[in-house]
Order: sequence, then structure tokens, then C-alpha cells
Amino acid sequence: MKALKVDHIGIAVKNLDETLKFYTEVLGLELGGTELVEDQKVKVAFLPLGDTEVELLESTSPDGPIAKYIEKNGEGIQHIAFKVDNIEEAIKHMEDKGMRMIDQEPRYGAGGAKIAFVHPKSSHRVLVELSERD
Ligand code: ZN
Repeated sequence: MKALKVDHIGIAVKNLDETLKFYTEVLGLELGGTELVEDQKVKVAFLPLGDTEVELLESTSPDGPIAKYIEKNGEGIQHIAFKVDNIEEAIKHMEDKGMRMIDQEPRYGAGGAKIAFVHPKSSHRVLVELSERD
């Protein structure tokens, strides 16, 4: 297994519309779209940039993972996603290397990607997402 590129950077925000102003009006990025990911209780805004993208994540519920993250850490970079070509193989590879996975099985993330999170205890306190999508 080999990570192919940084698929996206996930940033936890309190208010999507307000944060978007910084990324679009100040940094000059373009909003590629938004998506509600019910499973994660999150609304995602996609800001493609070159070969990768920034994803802004706003919780839709106070008990969602992003709300909990902000409660504990405040707003900020929440995870980094690496593109892989085969998520099942990538999970197996991680486990073979002794990494602890949050997801032993892939699940569906934003944009229909198949994703799995590596436990930050195994990845030096960075929440790493593995992502397979076309
Ligand atoms: Zn992500």
C-alpha cells in the first residue's frame, strides 16, 4: 500500500457560512459544493484547490463527532485524508503494521468515498483518514 496524495484536509468549524468567507473572499478559493453526511452528522463544504481540497466540517447536531471535537479542541484542522487505490487492502496493510484502526471496515464518507480512520494513537496524534474514490 502507498498513499497516493493528500485527498483533502478536514477542518472543524462552528459556522460554515462565516468560515467560507475567509476561504473564498480572503484566500480566493472556490466553493465546489456542499453535502450533508447524515451518518457523520456533518455538513461539508468542498473547496477544491489544485490536486487536493479543503473540506470544512460543521456539525448538524451537538452530539456529532465534529461538535465533540470542537468542544474539546476548539475549531481547527481535524483530520488529513490520504487517497489510496484500494481501501480494503489499505486497512489490512495498516493492521499488519500494528496500527489501530477506528474503522476495521470501510464506510461511506462525503462524495461517496470509501473511508476508514486510523486511530490517532497509532498515527502520532494526527487523525488520518484513508480514502478511496475515483
Ligand atoms: Zn475527510
